[in-house]
Amino acid sequence: MRTLTCSSGGAPVDLEHESACSYCHAPIAFLDAHQVERVLDELRRDDAAREQKAAELPVRLAADRPQVDRVFTEPGEPDWARVRDSLGVLERDLAAVAALVGRRA
Ligand SMILES: [Zn+2]
Repeated sequence: MRTLTCSSGGAPVDLEHESACSYCHAPIAFLDAHQVERVLDELRRDDAAREQKAAELPVRLAADRPQVDRVFTEPGEPDWARVRDSLGVLERDLAAVAALVGRRA
């Protein structure tokens, strides 16, 4: 679980399922920027581990492609939360990054 600690109340914020502190409702944009960096570092480390799965990626991506394409070709903003892939990496990372970007914008 990727969590941040609310900088106002110290409550844990589940970055994957919450966009704000569930205790004081402070949005993620107001939470500690250093923690955001730490979570992004974790995502980058996951990138390295992911490369070890490169051998099976082409097959998996080919299988995932129609579903991902569907999300991107629908009218309006891509719905990142609906992206699913067999490795689970797009699903998890896009949701986390989209949450961060969305709250910081
Ligand atoms: Zn809080």
